[in-house]
Amino acid sequence: MAVIEINELTKTYHGTQALNGVSLRVERGEIFGIAGPNGAGKTTIVECVSGLRRPDGGTVRVLGLNPQNNRRALLQRIGAQLQEAALPDGIKVGEALRMYASFYDNPADWRAVMDEWGLTGRKGTRFASLSGGWKQRLFIALALVGDPEVVLLDELTTGLDPDARRTTWVLIRAMRDRGVTVVLVTHFMDEAEALCDRIAIVSGGRVIAEGSPRELITEARAASLEDAYFALTGRN
Ligand code: ADP
Repeated sequence: MAVIEINELTKTYHGTQALNGVSLRVERGEIFGIAGPNGAGKTTIVECVSGLRRPDGGTVRVLGLNPQNNRRALLQRIGAQLQEAALPDGIKVGEALRMYASFYDNPADWRAVMDEWGLTGRKGTRFASLSGGWKQRLFIALALVGDPEVVLLDELTTGLDPDARRTTWVLIRAMRDRGVTVVLVTHFMDEAEALCDRIAIVSGGRVIAEGSPRELITEARAASLEDAYFALTGRN
């Protein structure tokens, strides 16, 4: 069953066409990657999914709801990773989790989430004192504390060192294995290939390819073989 259905989405910002007819389906329980270069439109898609942006055209349904009309109901059922600026430097790990849990009608037990993500030993550590990897781990825990069905992660590993990136991948897989549907935005193709069940590659506000990592690699190989053939033979 599709948890997210996007049809023919369009969005223009002051003359810049950010989305030019994007259609996608995200199935329940998968890690779905939205990959592509900077400026492709990835964040705009995710913002339309979470109800932060109003599309100019097309439709979005998340868990059967229109994010624009049902934002409050939807926010109870989806988790979104925060940007760093969203937490005050002085807040402690335990306080942040307790506070975010209080935003939800039916949250997870924040202490259990803290424990599960290995944060109990840092319960009293202030946000500003955490390393990049631990901040990301906290953001993941905060995205899960509402016990969401769908989690949206936008460039979660940008700026992390390779070890912290790999640890984050393990955590994302663990999320999926618990039945959460994960939408992962990344401009790292290796990350999308390593983690995602299916990937949509977005460029210039359009989905230019979609499929499992294996399908995309096979397609890309076929395309580059064709290019090589045309280059060699001069035929097109
Ligand atoms: P991505 O996440 O793939 O980097 P975005 O969705 O952020 O892409 O941006 C898509 C396009 O829309 C880019 O050309 C970007 O410059 C433009 N854009 C995004 N947000 C705004 C905004 N608030 N105002 C004007 N242009 C924007």
